[in-house]
Amino acid sequence: MTFKDLSLSEELLRALDERGYQNPTPIQEQAIPYVLMARDLLGCAQTGTGKTASFVLPMIDILDQGRARMRMPRSLILEPTRELAAQVAENFDLYGKYHKLTKALLIGGVTFGEQDKLLDRGVDVLIATPGRLLDHFERGNVLLNDVKILVIDEADRMLDMGFIPDVDKIVSKIPPLRQTLMFSATMPKEIKKLAEQFLSNPKEVAVSPPSATADTIVQQMVMLDAKQKREALRDILSGAEVKNALIFCNRKKDVGLVHRSLMRHGFKAGALHGDMDQFSRTETLDKFKEDKIEYLVCSDVAARGLDIPDMTHVVNFDVPMHDEDYVHRIGRTGRAGRKGHAITFVTEEEGKYLDAVQIIAKGAIKEITLKGIGKPKLEKFQDKPSSNRRTRNQNKHRPANDRSETMKSASNNHSSRKHSTQTLKEKDPPPETIKGFGDETPAFLRTTVKT
Ligand code: AMP
Repeated sequence: MTFKDLSLSEELLRALDERGYQNPTPIQEQAIPYVLMARDLLGCAQTGTGKTASFVLPMIDILDQGRARMRMPRSLILEPTRELAAQVAENFDLYGKYHKLTKALLIGGVTFGEQDKLLDRGVDVLIATPGRLLDHFERGNVLLNDVKILVIDEADRMLDMGFIPDVDKIVSKIPPLRQTLMFSATMPKEIKKLAEQFLSNPKEVAVSPPSATADTIVQQMVMLDAKQKREALRDILSGAEVKNALIFCNRKKDVGLVHRSLMRHGFKAGALHGDMDQFSRTETLDKFKEDKIEYLVCSDVAARGLDIPDMTHVVNFDVPMHDEDYVHRIGRTGRAGRKGHAITFVTEEEGKYLDAVQIIAKGAIKEITLKGIGKPKLEKFQDKPSSNRRTRNQNKHRPANDRSETMKSASNNHSSRKHSTQTLKEKDPPPETIKGFGDETPAFLRTTVKT
């Protein structure tokens, strides 16, 4: 099938052609005809499937008929994060280049004044995060009475982030005679319930999400102590085949720490987390897309939905606390049939999250050791039941030459830092029995030991 078969306007076909897109993706093929028919739609698809164009393209053609009124947008797209909202806005610019539609972006970090001016003139498309939209609404800057198309994107993420009460409030201000499109990467019961509440007799379309155990992604893990993580990260990023990487941390504060640590060691790194102002976030993302920075340290929320192509590596600096986040994280590599790598750091404390992650990964995460890094040989600690003592003493048991070699390679400048990753080895099979941990045997060891 080609885009021509989807009854889209000549102007859209021209814009698509210039972009080099001839064939719709499965979600576009399924969704576009129903959106053009003015049906409500519940789409199960995640970022990377071409989901954005599946609503942006038909919306452009629908909105081409009619005119915007002052402060009364004709369509509204709700996004959970600023970056996603900005990406949707870019899609409107890209595909709508031969149409004369107006749009406004209501997201945190952009001054109210600027957005007010746009709203004053009247917009066809309003793209917003829920909180910011409510702020504007409460200030009387925007009225939602004329919204004819409503898109609730990434509904499951809205739910995770606690935005549903805000979404509910917003929907209650939009006339019921409207077309509503809702997209979600997953369809848990709560989302189905929301769909019943917000949509009217929707057409349901679904495309399969990228699998966590995609053949194109090599999944590995390294067992180590928390204080070894930064060194291990430098070691991995110095690998010859690492062209660029996303590094995920569970906590915002660690995003900053890891970013600063990489910069200190001469890595071209940037950071992305929810507390950064919009300008810095956009600037960092642009630099990353232009290859001015090669490593991006981020939190799950900040990275959600970002369209960053050609990622060779994903490093989970921490084991994600939710197994779904693991799928989202590693889905940033091994895209479009290319080979990708995902490496997860696991400390004893994080062992409790590993079980769930291994289940969703269907056991595909193989343990490796990094030269000079990792948990010490277990026998050495048979007489040391305290895991704290074990941690404190760990470096003593690492061969001194191993450590200095790694440190040397990591502190060199970038061009000389790249080395062969022969230091990455599949780990020896676990010993038959483990002694010395007493009651503190971590969960991840318990699951891998054969008795
Ligand atoms: P999305 O899932 O909307 O984030 O889109 C993921 C990526 O696919 C974006 O870089 C889009 O530009 C790209 N894309 C969208 N539609 C198509 C298409 N029909 N053919 C090729 N690439 C596409």
